Amino acid sequence: MAGLRAAISLAEAGRVLVLAKQELTESATQYAQGGVAVVLSDEDEISLHLQDTVDAGAGLVNVAAATVLVEEGPERIHELLDWGAQFDRTGSKLTFTREGAHSRSRILHAHGDSTGREMGRALAAKAMTLPNITFSEFEFSSDLVFRDGAVHGVELIAGDGQRHRVSASAVLLATGGIGQVYRDTTNPSVATADGIGMAFRAGADISDMEFVQFHPTALYVPGAPRFLLSEALRGEGAQLLNMEMQRFMPAQHALAELAPRDVVARAIAHEIGQSNQPDPVVYLDMRHLDAETLRNRFPRVHATCLQYKVDITKDLVPIRPAAHYLMGGVKTDLEGRTNIAGLYAGGETACTGVHGANRLASNSLLEGLVFGARAGNRMREESTKPAALGQPAAPQAKDDLEKAEQYIRTIQNVMWRYAGVVRTSKGLAEAQSMIGAVGERLPAPVSRRSCEARNIFQAARLIVRSALAREESRGAHFRTDFPQTDDERFKKHSLVRRDKISFE
Ligand SMILES: Cc1cc2nc3c(=O)[nH]c(=O)nc-3n(C[C@H](O)[C@H](O)[C@H](O)COP(=O)(O)OP(=O)(O)OC[C@H]3O[C@@H](n4cnc5c(N)ncnc54)[C@H](O)[C@@H]3O)c2cc1C
Repeated sequence: MAGLRAAISLAEAGRVLVLAKQELTESATQYAQGGVAVVLSDEDEISLHLQDTVDAGAGLVNVAAATVLVEEGPERIHELLDWGAQFDRTGSKLTFTREGAHSRSRILHAHGDSTGREMGRALAAKAMTLPNITFSEFEFSSDLVFRDGAVHGVELIAGDGQRHRVSASAVLLATGGIGQVYRDTTNPSVATADGIGMAFRAGADISDMEFVQFHPTALYVPGAPRFLLSEALRGEGAQLLNMEMQRFMPAQHALAELAPRDVVARAIAHEIGQSNQPDPVVYLDMRHLDAETLRNRFPRVHATCLQYKVDITKDLVPIRPAAHYLMGGVKTDLEGRTNIAGLYAGGETACTGVHGANRLASNSLLEGLVFGARAGNRMREESTKPAALGQPAAPQAKDDLEKAEQYIRTIQNVMWRYAGVVRTSKGLAEAQSMIGAVGERLPAPVSRRSCEARNIFQAARLIVRSALAREESRGAHFRTDFPQTDDERFKKHSLVRRDKISFE
């Protein structure tokens, strides 16, 4: 979302290379279901969208960034409509639905529950009409070319394993999220924190890494990916049952199943923790809802669950929480600029502070469009000519794929256990030492997978470090040893600069 949108703006200025480590479509954007939040209905107001975003962010939203998001959002969506995006309509009018923590119906969706796929399709189609944009798929960016305090290009590993460099007057990191740092995640396999790893190694400021949003309801069936079961299902009346077949949310929150995501995720984690079953789950129950409505409104959810022999209209759906979205990332200003000359970040990789400590549902697709466009516009002003770069030497070390896989699995398990939905200082300290030990044994970053292992390790370390330092609970970060919010000490953003952490 962010990368393609930036490329479209930037193409007016010169040649743009869009890199993707798999097919262009393989991204979180492709799997975004629920929709995109935007003020386009007559019953809505920009100020209300702003207020909802600020309220969700638990005291840490950068109001200037959120203002840009809600004010420029409508224009970006109109533009996307002009480029052919087909959002769902009732008659000729756009259909808006409501999601948790939104005070108005302002969520546009496409093909029921395939919003991101449709938005990505329209953007890619537009970008492909622009002769200045070149696409290169199955090209893995392994590192930035950093010299004399500025970024001059990227180092790449092609599909056949060959390394080469591409020079550029500016580089935008739009590599998506970090879900693969955790054992259970809704994110696709490409979400291995590559942009954050590359930026961190080049000395970029990294902010708010402790704020990872866990989606409460991901399908939990052995052998199946943790497929997301959209909040909108609960909006339609789906209920949560524990293993004793009892609803537990009404006792936890006045909004019951529609309580904020972090509250629901913690309540589910609690139920799971209480159970003495070998592999406990919680169930999403939709059996009382109209089957026809469910099939029409959620065709993708219905079809995907059926693949794993779960019929959402008839069966209890086993679920667990899963890592979903990173509010933090590479710190940028409102034009995507990092603290390093020539380096930009956008979308989920970036942290403008727009989501604060917790993201309002459906604000991230919009974030990719709005801040992607802004970064592309700003990059047009980069006047440096691309530097001549030599090609990298072939790596001397041998690749050890087996070890890379093994260490990735270890980090994912440690992160899930100690830096997940509920955290403690003891658990985080344990995670820090276990991840540190993995770091010492990581194989040399030779292949794409061993580079991903290094990025997963670096992101995990940043999350744990920031989560340990934030001795309070706020938004998506919950510490049982510090269950209160402490505005006096922590109404600030965490910032990792090189090897130091501070709150600013
Ligand atoms: C299942 C699911 C459902 C969601 N539902 C919603 C929703 O309804 N509404 C909403 O607003 N948000 C939703 N989100 C969040 C939203 O989809 C993402 O935050 C957003 O799409 C991220 O866009 P992006 O452009 O930052 O990254 P992505 O869309 O993830 O794109 C990143 C791209 O970078 C490429 N890449 C990564 N590393 C490298 C590398 N080293 N070299 C080369 N290429 C690389 C990837 O292959 C990919 O093409 C959902 C997320 C998930 C996972």
